[in-house]
Amino acid sequence: MTDPRRRIPRTDTLLADPRLAKAVHDLGPGLVKAAVVTAQERARAGEIAPEDVAESALAELPGTATTLHPVLNATGVVVHTNLGRAPLSPAALDAVRAAGGATDVEFDLASGTRARRGRGALAALAGAVPEAGGVHVVNNNAAALLLCALALAPGREIVLSRGELVEIGDGFRIPELLESAGARLREVGTTNRTTVADYAAAIGPDTGFVLKVHPSNFRVTGFTAEAGVGELAELGVPVVADIGSGLFHPHPLLPDEPDATTALRAGASLVTASGDKLLGGPQAGLLFGEHAVVERLRRHPAARAMRVDKLTLAALEATLRGPLPPVRAALEAPVSRLRDRATWLAGELARRGVDATAVESVAAVGGGGAPGVELPSAAVSLPEHYAEALRTGTPPVVGRVERGRCLLDLRTIDPAEDRSLLDAVMRCTS
Ligand SMILES: *Cc1c(COP(=O)(O)O)cnc(C)c1O
Repeated sequence: MTDPRRRIPRTDTLLADPRLAKAVHDLGPGLVKAAVVTAQERARAGEIAPEDVAESALAELPGTATTLHPVLNATGVVVHTNLGRAPLSPAALDAVRAAGGATDVEFDLASGTRARRGRGALAALAGAVPEAGGVHVVNNNAAALLLCALALAPGREIVLSRGELVEIGDGFRIPELLESAGARLREVGTTNRTTVADYAAAIGPDTGFVLKVHPSNFRVTGFTAEAGVGELAELGVPVVADIGSGLFHPHPLLPDEPDATTALRAGASLVTASGDKLLGGPQAGLLFGEHAVVERLRRHPAARAMRVDKLTLAALEATLRGPLPPVRAALEAPVSRLRDRATWLAGELARRGVDATAVESVAAVGGGGAPGVELPSAAVSLPEHYAEALRTGTPPVVGRVERGRCLLDLRTIDPAEDRSLLDAVMRCTS
């Protein structure tokens, strides 16, 4: 008997297979060779037959030349930081693809001369918040805050409530971010209560600005007090409002979430926000404010180090001009519609012998904003062991485990992906 392992095809033989040769063309040699080596190792370990090595390598290949996987977010957390926050709309994805090549991001085709970079995105942003005399875009909201500190408070004080000393995540804290820009923090009030008098007492010749930070990922309840932007704007120093999640106008489902228009009307000199939270766009830091103040930020030397690329500008403009982005569709979907989909999916799965039921669920906005807000939702409930099988499948599906069941929450699944979700569960069943 010959050892079957001697029949494992050699790497160069496998790479001559037309399907793998095409993969080298599409994905580059590195990823394809890695998949081939993995398949050969599986054959050597006796996990697959030597004649199946090419098939196995093909099955191992990623869809793109990256190690990032597209994931179905069935967590019920609308803005999920670990899953990349806001998924882009199809319109934004198309715009990214179109802008990926040579593009007129900084060029006027009519005159053949240099033009203002990202003018389309900036015009769309200005149009979306007419109260702003000026708008600017940087890499993220942390960069927007850093730029404010660098341009408006170098060596000076930023007055900030002790109740708003926020850690964004992964150990990054807004007070430390501001201090890294060379500003000094002047903390006022207490964790639960800060009044306008506390701010007034701290303001002096050294004050750069007063900062209001939205506690977007935690809540302090009970015996609390805070000063509003309107009262602070009367203290005679600029007020910068970090609203966090990026609502432009009040949202009826999120009554406690601050928005840019209201903050500007109340007298904020500047408003900063993230582009990839409730706006549903690409990662970006959005700045709205008085024209002269925004210009000061825009012309600061450090602004160049925070400049966004053409892909971000394209995605941002398409998010602003295009159809409702997925984050907003997920937030606003009526629960009756989610229940219908859960019932249909659970019925299809049960018919195929899976222990699946449709259940009520509670979804959340997530680290992106509106802490404590419960969004009524519906989910498909499966035995707990599905959680891992789904997570490690293709495409990976990330649900959540609650009381010994794996829940797939439909608020964060695009209805167009229900069929993919059904297929993914069935693949874990065989
Ligand atoms: C999320 C958040 C930030 C950080 O924004 P990034 O865009 O992630 O840099 C800052 N401030 C508040 C209030 C936030 O919610």
